[in-house]
Amino acid sequence: MKEKKIHYCTECKRDMKFIPSVTTIGEFGLYLCEKHFIQWFEKWVEHTIEEFEMFDRQTPVIVALSGGKDSMVLWYVLNKLGYRAEGFHLNLGISGISEKSEQAVRELGQMIGKDPIIVNVKNEIGAGIAEISKIFRTPPCSICGRIKRYYFNRTARLQGFKVIATGHNLDDEAGSLLFNLVNWNEKYLIRKYPVLREDPMSGLPRKVKPLALMAEDRILLYARLNNIPFTGQPCPLGQDAKLHIYKDMLTHLEKQNRSIKRNFYLRFIRKYQKLFQQLPTKEKHKKLQKCKICGEPTPSDVCLVCKIKQAVKDNNPSLE
Ligand code: SF4
Ligand code: ZN
Repeated sequence: MKEKKIHYCTECKRDMKFIPSVTTIGEFGLYLCEKHFIQWFEKWVEHTIEEFEMFDRQTPVIVALSGGKDSMVLWYVLNKLGYRAEGFHLNLGISGISEKSEQAVRELGQMIGKDPIIVNVKNEIGAGIAEISKIFRTPPCSICGRIKRYYFNRTARLQGFKVIATGHNLDDEAGSLLFNLVNWNEKYLIRKYPVLREDPMSGLPRKVKPLALMAEDRILLYARLNNIPFTGQPCPLGQDAKLHIYKDMLTHLEKQNRSIKRNFYLRFIRKYQKLFQQLPTKEKHKKLQKCKICGEPTPSDVCLVCKIKQAVKDNNPSLE
């Protein structure tokens, strides 16, 4: 049987030390030990934040925490790098996973010495995501995404945060870019960028993705090496299966060329995204006004969440 070749850390070798590597950064020709991988990871996140002018060390940032590895690593690493990052978790009331997600968020808060802000959908709206999707007869993910956006924006605004950071990774971003290009979804391609500028007119905060250039397997490795708590359990209400096909296709292509995902996504955001921004769309000019019940920005008189609250009351008499 062929013996497995040991690769030593490229950085350690410079000091004539021979430490076995824990991973390879193929696109830069590096083999890295645990210590140097952690350093490389943190530098790369800092570099992404600076290149796309996401925020500086004085700006208070709120990190949207799902309890999964990406957002949990993001909160941890931003604090380690000295950014003013607070955690926000929305408990979605999904039985089987929401309790575990909230628990993981609390554990990470204890580990880094911070209290996360936690909002519970069942307390706020009167029902969890599964029940709401039944009442509205819509797929859970579409209603869930809109509820999450509402509470991220609202919490950021009420607590004085100008920036919301999410844990989207390179695999997510490259996969959805491929999906949106193949389907020529101009509306999404216009917004496909690691930073979405704030809108002073409506009061919507800036949205940033500091892990957009970091591959998923490296985030997982960083989480494990730093003992960061997270839930690995997928949501039982289902992910977007279509998007997974595109993510898997890129992962398959990457077996031939480790740089393919990074190059595909980076080239788009550095060069071609500008072209899409010039396209006129209805979405771009949609006027927002204040919801007459809660005051959040909305294209109609009453926002979606206020409408959901009313519908939950009407459809479930036990909630009265
Ligand atoms: Fe919400 Fe869908 Fe994600 Fe579950 S899979 S948390 S329902 S968006
Ligand atoms: Zn409202």
